[in-house]
Amino acid sequence: MKSHLSLILLSTLQCNADCEYCFESKTTDRLTLDRLGELIRKVLDYMVEKSLATLTIYWQGGEAMLLPPSWYEQANDLIRREAEARDKQVFHSLQSNMLAYNTRWNKVIAEMFGNSVGTSLDYPNLHRKLLGQGPESYNEIWGRRVREARAAGIAVQVIAVPNRATLEIGAERFYTHFVDELGVTEFQVNTPFPGGEATAAKQELPVAEVEKLSRFYMELAEVWLERGYHHGVRLGPFDALLQHFSHEPATLPCIWGDNCANALVSIDARGYVAQCDCWVTSYPDYHYGNIFECSSLAELLKTSPARQQFNERPIHLIQRDCLNCDYLALCHGGCPVRTYTVHGSLFEKDPYCELYKALFGQMERAARELARARVAARAMAA
Ligand code: SF4
Ligand code: SF4
Ligand code: SF4
Repeated sequence: MKSHLSLILLSTLQCNADCEYCFESKTTDRLTLDRLGELIRKVLDYMVEKSLATLTIYWQGGEAMLLPPSWYEQANDLIRREAEARDKQVFHSLQSNMLAYNTRWNKVIAEMFGNSVGTSLDYPNLHRKLLGQGPESYNEIWGRRVREARAAGIAVQVIAVPNRATLEIGAERFYTHFVDELGVTEFQVNTPFPGGEATAAKQELPVAEVEKLSRFYMELAEVWLERGYHHGVRLGPFDALLQHFSHEPATLPCIWGDNCANALVSIDARGYVAQCDCWVTSYPDYHYGNIFECSSLAELLKTSPARQQFNERPIHLIQRDCLNCDYLALCHGGCPVRTYTVHGSLFEKDPYCELYKALFGQMERAARELARARVAARAMAA
């Protein structure tokens, strides 16, 4: 483990939406403050044991806002007390669909979450829905809540997952919708994967259309470089890749980490521990264990056969599929959950390998051109 730990904490497995591609098996479980206390003490004790200085908790659900703001205020106090007692620093990040947002959230979002929320919207929206309703009502409520949050000074970052309709309208229209029409200046585009129970919508995801998806990503990168990069628009993963290839400090997404099991873990409202949100909610065979049934998190992680598989994955890939790849030191074989949901095994490379290679090449070239332009501009000014 490095000196930082990331924890995806699912405070509830309930949700007020019914997205067709959701990978979570939802239940009515919610974390109580008593159980949160036990959970956080074990996580912090683990950090003491491993000499980890800082923790970021990514609060998610189901829908995290189904627990009230007062619950998070108490959770924040409780976690701060426990962290201070162990000389550890804890940061909080909130991911929400925003459907339950109202002004009562403003205080805790400012104090606990740095006045910032991450949320999700696709364009065109085919799959994000409220129970029994079409995507239009989701868009309408989401848009209203996000406008209200912004009016209260809250920064809203958006995650979008491309679907078939996204590929049809193309990158230019997609970018225009988010940046020019919705005023989003910080968003990221995640590749789809059919996690959890099979549904018709998951079969429709453009997972097998890597070539089309690659074209979309590359066009989107071009649009961003031309229209957004110089105007403060942050678009992931392009911005992080550009920083990486410009030899600047970059926070790359977990999919390209050397081994996500080294830096990240997820715990759900029932106490189950697994690699990340999809694993913990939908793949019980890949649970590392239960935090409420163990005496120590370090022991649970050390003895988990499922976690052993995550640890063995990089070496398998280095010896085989990724051996001769120029980008091995950047990509490390990609994301285990994308691999597993497509290939049914952890020991294959990420199904988006070709997309990543194309994107890495493109951003490497873009970084070179930008560096050249900077040198030329300095020479002109001298
Ligand atoms: S994708 Fe998120 S918002 Fe949609 S149903 Fe699943 S947990 Fe809820
Ligand atoms: S399985 Fe994929 S999404 Fe989950 S933590 Fe690892 S790299 Fe990230
Ligand atoms: S780009 Fe492909 S071959 Fe290269 S490390 Fe990633 S998954 Fe492996």
